[in-house]
Amino acid sequence: MLKRKKEINTERLDKIVTEAHRNQAVREHGYREQALKLYPWICTRCEREFTRENLQGLTVHHKDHNHDNNPTNGSNWELLCVYCHDNEHSRHLDAEYGELTSNDQKQSSSTHTPFADLKALLNKE
Ligand SMILES: [Zn+2]
Ligand SMILES: [Zn+2]
Repeated sequence: MLKRKKEINTERLDKIVTEAHRNQAVREHGYREQALKLYPWICTRCEREFTRENLQGLTVHHKDHNHDNNPTNGSNWELLCVYCHDNEHSRHLDAEYGELTSNDQKQSSSTHTPFADLKALLNKE
C-alpha cells in the first residue's frame, strides 16, 4: 500500500516538473521566434549579421532584464550576439542572472557585522 502511494506521488511530481519545463521551453521559444520575425538578424551592438546557419549565436536580450516581460510589439527585446549579450550582463548583474547577485549580497551581509562586538562591549558597561 505504502509503496503504491509513493509511486503515484512521484508520478504526479514528474508530470508537474515536465509540464513546467515544457511551459518554459514554449515560452522561451515563443519570444525568440517573435523577436526574430520582428527584427533583422543583426546584433544591435556590434552589427554582426546572422544567417540561418549561425542563428543560434543570436540571442534575445530583455531591455528591462525581466524575462517575463514580453510585449508582442517587441519593445522589451533586443537582438544581441552571445558576446555582446555576455557583455551586457557583466555590466548589469540583474534579474536574468540575478540569483548570483542576491546570494552574494546575503553572504556579505551575514558575515559583515563589524558592530556586533562593539555592541556587546557597550552592553557590559
Ligand atoms: Zn554583438
Ligand atoms: Zn539579456
